[in-house]
Amino acid sequence: MPIRYDARTYALRAAKGYVSLASVAGRLKVPFALDPHTQGILGQAVGFDSADMIHRKGRFWLHIVVTIPDVEFQPSGDVVGVDMGLSRPAVCSHNRFFGKRRWKEIERRYFRLRRSLQRKGTRSAKRHLRKLAGKVNRFRRDCDHVLSRRIVDSVQPGTVIVVENLVDIRTRTKQRGRESRRRLHSWSFARLRSFLAYKAAAKGCKVVGVDPRHTSQMCSRCGHVHRRNRRSQSRFLCRACGFELNADLNAARNIARKYLASGGMPAAGGPLSTGLACQPAQAG
Ligand SMILES: [Zn+2]
Repeated sequence: MPIRYDARTYALRAAKGYVSLASVAGRLKVPFALDPHTQGILGQAVGFDSADMIHRKGRFWLHIVVTIPDVEFQPSGDVVGVDMGLSRPAVCSHNRFFGKRRWKEIERRYFRLRRSLQRKGTRSAKRHLRKLAGKVNRFRRDCDHVLSRRIVDSVQPGTVIVVENLVDIRTRTKQRGRESRRRLHSWSFARLRSFLAYKAAAKGCKVVGVDPRHTSQMCSRCGHVHRRNRRSQSRFLCRACGFELNADLNAARNIARKYLASGGMPAAGGPLSTGLACQPAQAG
């Protein structure tokens, strides 16, 4: 279990390279190391909140909650669609692929292990299950941080980042292939989106959602929709115009296009809002 500190029990002296922590033996001055990215964030921080001390694999980590001012969103006209892909965890309409293929393999391995532990049902199996749940959760969280960071780093300030509103996708049973395709990463979607939203806001970008229907079956060149346009998990081939593309990239382009078609022109004070409040979808 992490130890929680607050403003009275810890004080960060980033410039001097140590943190002062209250302990049963009085105040401790603990030196720490920072990576350049964290250093940058601390430099912008205008407020410090609670901090959690975590011990993991022989190292101590201090997770600090800081407040950094958002950069005002000034639309540049750039719109980037993000598809939570099959071939890669995230594929963006500006031709960038993020995340590692092996993440999904790790996820499948966890899934199989969990299932076999559940079948056993013994007390020690239950203990293992609890440990495993914590491990899986940390792994997913790390993936979400990496993905959202990479995506935001790849765009310029003023960009609208468009994602699918996937909250209700699981209630739909029709699109079977897509349904199972989603299952592997549906776990992370709300969290990934919230990570994306605050990282985007700190860079002067914003995140909006669109209706996910047909994004994987529509041709991003001619707009033709057909179930068999998507030939396989990785290949899109349009039956009407012959356009061929990586299937996730085609979907990402459709996601960006939907936002533009919905009239969500990236104007200040436009109809679409940032953050987790999803805008219900106007199909384009
Ligand atoms: Zn086409």
